[in-house]
Amino acid sequence: MHLKNNNLSKKILSWYDNNRRILPWRLDLKTKKKQYYRILSEFMLQQTQVKTVIPYFNNFVARVPSLKILSLTSGKKILKLWEGLGYYRRARNLHKTSKIIIKKYNGRLPHEFDKIKNLPGIGDYTAKALLALVYNQPHIPFDGNVKRVFFRLFKVKIEKNKNKIKSIIDRHFYTSRHGDLAEALMEFGAIICKPVNPLCDQCSLKKNCNSYKNKDLVFVNKKSHEKKKKYNIFCYLKKKKKEIVLINNKNLSFLSNFKIPKTKLVKFNNKKKSGWIYLCNYKNNISNIKMNINLFYKFVKNNSKKYKWYSIDQPNNEFIPTFTKKIFKKVSRVYN
Ligand code: SF4
Repeated sequence: MHLKNNNLSKKILSWYDNNRRILPWRLDLKTKKKQYYRILSEFMLQQTQVKTVIPYFNNFVARVPSLKILSLTSGKKILKLWEGLGYYRRARNLHKTSKIIIKKYNGRLPHEFDKIKNLPGIGDYTAKALLALVYNQPHIPFDGNVKRVFFRLFKVKIEKNKNKIKSIIDRHFYTSRHGDLAEALMEFGAIICKPVNPLCDQCSLKKNCNSYKNKDLVFVNKKSHEKKKKYNIFCYLKKKKKEIVLINNKNLSFLSNFKIPKTKLVKFNNKKKSGWIYLCNYKNNISNIKMNINLFYKFVKNNSKKYKWYSIDQPNNEFIPTFTKKIFKKVSRVYN
């Protein structure tokens, strides 16, 4: 039997009702638009912060206003609208997903977890989020924020205690507002129970919080989530024409199958590479990956057919990610 005074959903939903951020995908929307906005925002929010996503989302829906139109839009246009948001594989998967929903499911997001999880680019977390947010089904998507809130409240790690988590949810988080609860927990983790310096004084759950009661707050050092990596990037250039060789990337997961110069993950920041001229060192942060890059170049024969050449000045027909365009800019110094 549930103990009413242990129902934390009431507290957290009341906090959410009074404090939630106004976000474009949270608008009170008619069903079809609601589905589209939620699907699009869930794809955009993977690995990316809310404040970064908002302008991209607004721009995207202004130009591609429905899932049907998205399914009919060219891949090139979608990538263009996604340009700068990174992790371009999401854009390709979103496009494929829109086509499947339109063709196979008659334009409606399926109601079944397994069917949603089978759509391109949708894992366990996104499937649960969509079912809760679009259909108000009783799922709690555990993103980093919700995991942290649960850990601090109940001293339990999600990955290791699936059965315990289920009984905690049954006991402490029962409600008919499943979609709101899912969103409230994520929002609460982002705004109140923050990784560093959580706002315990303002927290309506502090009486129920294990960490607070035991003065044993777990401060997650944000920096520990950051992955610092060193890369050498090698640019083959033409001497008399501003052109560079690009290859289909297989090494950087966030740019999988996009055009970049030859790139190598290295252990040491050594600025000497035999046969290559060192150009510069720079930092490029993509999501939680802090990249420290050494850029090298060498001139190769103009007529070499084994390479695919790209102009560093003129826009190409093919989509070029921002990561590569930054390299174009740096390499253009060689020609000054
Ligand atoms: S009391 Fe502090 S640590 Fe506990 S849930 Fe609230 S904000 Fe998080």
